[in-house]
Amino acid sequence: MEKLLELQSVGYSYHTPQGETPALININFTVCQGEFVAIVGPSGCGKSTLLSLSSGLLEPEHGSILLYGQKLFHKGSGTIGYMLQHDHLFEWRTIEQNVLLGPEIQKKLTNDRRESVLNMLKTYGLYKFKDARPSQLSGGMRQRAALIRTLALEPKLLLLDEPFSALDYQTRLMVGDDIGSIIRKEQKTAILVTHDLSEAVSLANRVIVLTKRPGTIKNIISIEFPEHLSPLERRNTPEFKDYFNLLWKEMNENE
Ligand code: ADP
Ligand code: MG
Repeated sequence: MEKLLELQSVGYSYHTPQGETPALININFTVCQGEFVAIVGPSGCGKSTLLSLSSGLLEPEHGSILLYGQKLFHKGSGTIGYMLQHDHLFEWRTIEQNVLLGPEIQKKLTNDRRESVLNMLKTYGLYKFKDARPSQLSGGMRQRAALIRTLALEPKLLLLDEPFSALDYQTRLMVGDDIGSIIRKEQKTAILVTHDLSEAVSLANRVIVLTKRPGTIKNIISIEFPEHLSPLERRNTPEFKDYFNLLWKEMNENE
């Protein structure tokens, strides 16, 4: 499989007037085309920092980050899409105007692009809401719209920073399933940060477990389920609980 993103001996510290906060030390991993990697670890261990580094927004202090074999920082990251906990949809724009925002700003809104984005609204059940405002949609539908807006720029890599954590438990299960299935159908490569271990097992091919701050890699666990199982179907298998327990143990050895 083609290597998409490589982190080699990556380290990062924050420097403030109060002093230095080492956030990450010696992080090494590779993400291949089509993989879904989850990152779990205790609060404050450097997960969001790791995503900011992987997006090219932050420059590593030590080591290097390569996207398709080339140094990421300074190169611009038009090929990377970032999705956060809050959906950041604009209330003064309709859903259609929201999902087309990226290509519009980047002056890439060709007829073909518009058509492919509108097709995603159709495929994922939002077309009838294209003229609605974000506040008229449920939390789950808003996250779906936010994902389509991110996909509208045709990113090679999707970075998801706890995108479901603002949702209530029931919605979170549904939306996790939904978003996971869309990402797989669109054959995207994704890195998901979550503190929900069952979410990681239901979505990922590999789970990277970080230690508490300064974050280092404690273990990387491969998650193997038959290809055709959806995230919700994975939850109903006997192996699911074994993976969950394994991650739980890894996390608690942290203490
Ligand atoms: P996580 O996402 O795992 O909760 P973060 O990556 O947000 O952790 O933060 C890692 C550590 O770095 C935390 O201790 C946090 O307080 C610190 N940190 C994060 N952002 C900054 C910043 N802009 N300035 C100083 N320290 C920061
Ligand atoms: Mg975070």
